[in-house]
Amino acid sequence: MEQNARRASSPSIAKVRLNAAIRRSFYGVKPSSVDSFRFLRCTYSSMYQLKQGLAALLACAAFATGREISFSDLDARGSSSGTVDFTQLASKLSPSAHIYLPGSDGFNSLVARWSNLSMPVANVVVVPGTENDVVQTVKFANAKYLPFLTVNGVHGSITTLGQMTHGIEISMKQLNSIKIAQDGQTVTIGGGVMSKNVTDTLWAAGKQTVTGTCECVSYLGPALGGGHGWLQGHHGLVSDQFVSLRVVKADGSLATVDKSSDVFWAMKGAGHNFGIVTSVVSKIYDIQHRNYALQTIIFSGDKVESVYELANKLWLTEGTIPEDLNNWSYWFFDPTLDTKPVIAMYLIQEGVDVVDAAYTKPFNDLGPIVTTPTSGTYLDLAKWTGISLSDTPCQKTGNANPRFPIYLKSYNPTAQRKVYDLFAQATTNASTPFSGALFMFEGYSTQGVRAISDDATAFAYRSDNLLVAPLLTYTPNGKALEDQAFKLGNQMRQILYEGSGQTSLNTYVNYAYGDETPKAWYGADKWRQDRLLSLKKNYDPKGKFSFYAPIA
Ligand SMILES: Cc1cc2nc3c(=O)[nH]c(=O)nc-3n(C[C@H](O)[C@H](O)[C@H](O)COP(=O)(O)OP(=O)(O)OC[C@H]3O[C@@H](n4cnc5c(N)ncnc54)[C@H](O)[C@@H]3O)c2cc1C
Repeated sequence: MEQNARRASSPSIAKVRLNAAIRRSFYGVKPSSVDSFRFLRCTYSSMYQLKQGLAALLACAAFATGREISFSDLDARGSSSGTVDFTQLASKLSPSAHIYLPGSDGFNSLVARWSNLSMPVANVVVVPGTENDVVQTVKFANAKYLPFLTVNGVHGSITTLGQMTHGIEISMKQLNSIKIAQDGQTVTIGGGVMSKNVTDTLWAAGKQTVTGTCECVSYLGPALGGGHGWLQGHHGLVSDQFVSLRVVKADGSLATVDKSSDVFWAMKGAGHNFGIVTSVVSKIYDIQHRNYALQTIIFSGDKVESVYELANKLWLTEGTIPEDLNNWSYWFFDPTLDTKPVIAMYLIQEGVDVVDAAYTKPFNDLGPIVTTPTSGTYLDLAKWTGISLSDTPCQKTGNANPRFPIYLKSYNPTAQRKVYDLFAQATTNASTPFSGALFMFEGYSTQGVRAISDDATAFAYRSDNLLVAPLLTYTPNGKALEDQAFKLGNQMRQILYEGSGQTSLNTYVNYAYGDETPKAWYGADKWRQDRLLSLKKNYDPKGKFSFYAPIA
């Protein structure tokens, strides 16, 4: 298995860096004005509600005059960035834009993330109100030699994000419009829209499209890395729905990217590397099935081999995953269910109120601890799988949440046993920090994904069937614990890799830990790497978009 030398910085280091960055940002402020500056928030929209118009903008700018932020660090490209006066940027932004500085509630809430491992560090957060605000912010950052990072649903957890040690976070949250085309064939989705909002808006209009399954991840975050979702069996990945994108490029220029552009291919799988998407036009469909059924079948760990041998036989080695069925399983330790982690198999079928016996009976016959039917609609799927807005994965708990993903074609029951035993040991020993860990086996239906040719997009793993990853949630407590999680996660992944017989590590970039290589994120084929490198050289030669799984 290939791994590069990049290792995450520890949470404690990340925190120190954050504090240092915040302190640094105050160094250029006159001591007497620190407090007022601390709470400076150029909230132009609310001021405009008071109908003070330009005067408000000027007042905000005047308030900040002379209170400049000093960056003593070298920027990502090694040149000194000097002192930055953000009022210059403020004067170029629309009335609805916001600039949040360290110490403000807005800043604190926008830099908080789902995973506290190797977090990016920013000295300011800009919340554009318009597409042009994004353009102006990128141009400003470039003029000041400041790194910048697009921030959306803040569920990105790859440790390469920690390579951002200062600069501007550009929060997309205000670019949140969703507009269905009159012909009902496409929807225009703002660059900061969350998956749930896409689903709900389309649903109300009798439409649907492929989105990520979790309600609180953005629409575009998953999509730019390919994007898995419940409807991929019918229509392909989230990014397979792209018709065109509005993209702010590395130099701050704006482009419409569609099938006539060479970078369109790359936006569908490696898109984080190439620009800021301010909006996207995606294909939509009439709702095919409103009703869905779930069968949750919980097994004790002694059934590992039989459960996954059966899954292989039904769907992977002797059969194919039916288009109307998504099958996920989770392993987790719940002492109220068993003394060791349980296997929870979720069979999710569309268009029915009870999952077909043809799907459930073979599993029920294995002798589960409990088997439970549930019925509802497509809108219930996130809740059923524990990823709705009110569930833990949608909260910012302060935990570190590293995953160690691998794509597989089928299960190797021997490897499943070996990794289960390791997982059981790691989650149940008396002093374990990993009792809240979750092992995820995602078996989406694949017909729609495979219907598109393998080389059609930068997403490299259309012929794999399973997205598998341990999620080793823990409360950060220093470098030793971070190393322990890193070692354990890689040990688990290595067992599955060796059991797979694959010759290269296939990972999902959007679940990646960050120690993998570009070959693992984007495919080991030389032509893929060459094509991506060449596009990167043309579109982002200075690596402005290189904090998230950089191709180069
Ligand atoms: C609980 C949970 C459930 C998940 N479910 C799924 C799922 O069902 N399907 C799936 O495919 N993935 C899923 N993921 C993985 C998900 O794709 C990644 O975590 C993704 O990075 C989240 O995007 P975000 O916008 O929420 O996070 P952010 O951290 O805000 O963004 C991640 C990165 O995406 C890029 N980015 C985001 N928006 C834009 C934009 N408008 N323009 C340019 N770049 C942008 C930036 O590089 C940014 O660093 C899940 C993750 C979690 C934690």
